[in-house]
Amino acid sequence: RELAQIEADKLKLIGTIAAGTAHEIRNPLTGIKGFISLLSQKYTDERDQYYFALIQTEVKRINDIVSELLLIGKPAGLRKETIVVQDVMKEVLPLFESEAQLQHTRVTADLPAYPLRVSISPDHFKQVLLNLSKNALEALEGGGEISIEAAEEGGRIRIRIADTGKGMSAETLRKLFVPFFTMKSTGTGLGLVVCKQILDSYGGSLIIDSRIGAGTTAMIDLPAVQTL
Ligand code: ADP
Ligand code: MG
Repeated sequence: RELAQIEADKLKLIGTIAAGTAHEIRNPLTGIKGFISLLSQKYTDERDQYYFALIQTEVKRINDIVSELLLIGKPAGLRKETIVVQDVMKEVLPLFESEAQLQHTRVTADLPAYPLRVSISPDHFKQVLLNLSKNALEALEGGGEISIEAAEEGGRIRIRIADTGKGMSAETLRKLFVPFFTMKSTGTGLGLVVCKQILDSYGGSLIIDSRIGAGTTAMIDLPAVQTL
């Protein structure tokens, strides 16, 4: 438990540094991106083009890392409000469905008719949904199914994002929340760290259940807002 606190403090510090230096990192990156694009018009040799593409991929990676670290730095920086889960879902689902279609993946959403209310910044909530659904899509590779379910269970709002993807080994499951741990060549290893950090800061949690070869279920758990 103490170790977890040290890890959390360390992360917070990294986030604070990222928040302070984000512009200083992003501005030169924009320059690099632009000049590489110029050079790639001049040097059209196949091998040069390959190198340019690699540089662009790596620049994007740095950008992704900075974006995610920014979220770790100020989870409390955004304003909390009472949101209806279904309303935010309706905004996020189309983005996600179009992405899924390209990968021959079917997405089903089973949301109750009664409104599910939680107190959270809508931007944070969207970020969590997007990170988890992105992982689900990436786990499917050649296609499959993703199902999203939400319900109120004993004063908690639970949202489950389940995929029929490749699942994870016990070893991977153990390292999920270690910053920068990734099994993907273009991953940042920060997606789940950010989700957990965000949910923790609202009195919630993130629970991942997975079986290798069978699939993964990510469960968002947040306190329900009680209405009279
Ligand atoms: P990233 O996606 O950048 O690798 P994440 O923190 O989002 O970072 O995920 C960390 C690792 O956890 C992934 O590299 C992957 O190995 C594993 N993982 C996460 N979600 C899933 C999932 N739905 N199915 C299988 N593996 C997953
Ligand atoms: Mg991810």
